[in-house]
Amino acid sequence: MVTTPLTNLQARDVATVLHPYSNLATLPQTGSLILERGDGVMVYDVDGKSYIEGMAGLWCNALGHGREELVEAAAEQMRKLPFAHLFTGKSHDPAIALAEKLKEISPMNAAKVFFCSSGSEANDTQMKLVWYVNNALGRPQKKKIISRIKAYHGVTIASASLTGLPNNHLDFDLPLSSVRHAACPHHWGFAHDGESEQDFSKRLAAELDAQIEAEGPETVAAFIAEPVMGAGGVIVPPEGYFAAIQPVLEKHDVMLIADEVICGFGRLGEWFGSTVLGMKPDTVSVAKALTSAYVPLGAVIIPDWIDEALTAQSAKIGVFGHGFTYSGHPVAAAVGLKTLEIMERENILAQVQAITPHFQKRISAFADHPLVGEARGLGLVGAVEVVADKASKRAFDPRKAVAAKAVAFAQEEGLIVRAIGDAVAICPPLVISESEIDELFERLGRALDRAQDWTV
Ligand code: PLP
Repeated sequence: MVTTPLTNLQARDVATVLHPYSNLATLPQTGSLILERGDGVMVYDVDGKSYIEGMAGLWCNALGHGREELVEAAAEQMRKLPFAHLFTGKSHDPAIALAEKLKEISPMNAAKVFFCSSGSEANDTQMKLVWYVNNALGRPQKKKIISRIKAYHGVTIASASLTGLPNNHLDFDLPLSSVRHAACPHHWGFAHDGESEQDFSKRLAAELDAQIEAEGPETVAAFIAEPVMGAGGVIVPPEGYFAAIQPVLEKHDVMLIADEVICGFGRLGEWFGSTVLGMKPDTVSVAKALTSAYVPLGAVIIPDWIDEALTAQSAKIGVFGHGFTYSGHPVAAAVGLKTLEIMERENILAQVQAITPHFQKRISAFADHPLVGEARGLGLVGAVEVVADKASKRAFDPRKAVAAKAVAFAQEEGLIVRAIGDAVAICPPLVISESEIDELFERLGRALDRAQDWTV
């Protein structure tokens, strides 16, 4: 490996910061890319080099950088009331107003909103609510949660258990024993030869039915799903998937949790991915784009029947014993409200719908690239999957890390994208323009060409 000596800042970084999702063994040689500022869809490193932020950070910086209104919303709230909590019968206007707004736009019949600070906390809360509510409803056996292979739901003990990726389980002694994983709905990756998307969906629904029967329906409480799987490699479900899955869940009285942490707030052109994909969730997890990632904020949206069960428990035992110091943090709530206000005022949903065909046309064009087995996406999110052999879909030796190499070349070309296994994911800010999309894909094309040359 040829590496350049680390700068002083890079050396201080690797000496002190424990980096999430990084190779801790190689980082001391390669050093981190140290960013300093951002403007719109662009970010700049400490040497002044510019990059198109092709991942909107971590699928979250929906409105791009440099939004003074969001800065001002935070500053104003900090001046007025920088902290107040929601425990023990206290509240504040930003949390109330944001809960009202989330109820209004929610993809299900919403009763209340529980606030937290991240997607992991939201899904952790989901799991606790499933257990707590089933105890409250007098069915203590009904506790298992089914997620899916390649799902990403976070990294706390509960949410990492729901995540269906080996690196989040191996040597962390996870998943928890009450979590199961159903098949991954990736047609290109897992359908039988000649199996249509509809048939694949029907087969997965039949497999889920059999899985629930084998577990015992009286023990299975919930099924959790992202509308489009994000951090598992941007996997768009096959045609008819949720239409086939949902009757199975209904048959066994298994609730559906929609993890809208990536898809929520416009990524697929509507407020929520659930409505785009025909999901009818019982509860919803949100985070990321809710504040355009200017400050951390997550939430769980619940329906009446869960609210009623929680209230009945309080009547019995005196308290709902769950909540974080920063549940409904006023600064985060104020920024969340302002984010949604900007999204409405600037017609961001319509803008995403208008620009999506161009974005998807540019991704689809990579299907012809010699290195690419599948080019896929929906709305303003997509991925290209590299393969050693297009016809047989044979994968590269994982130790070659070809997608990671393509991402490194992209970085040299001035583009930030993300390698997930063999996939290169693209998820730009929702405000990206047509010419910026073109520039993004020109740079990605050059990176893939260089990766192709590097493999031979
Ligand atoms: N759920 C989904 C769908 C996600 O993509 C993520 C993060 O990428 C999470 C949950 C976890 O969110 P966080 O990293 O904020 O804990």
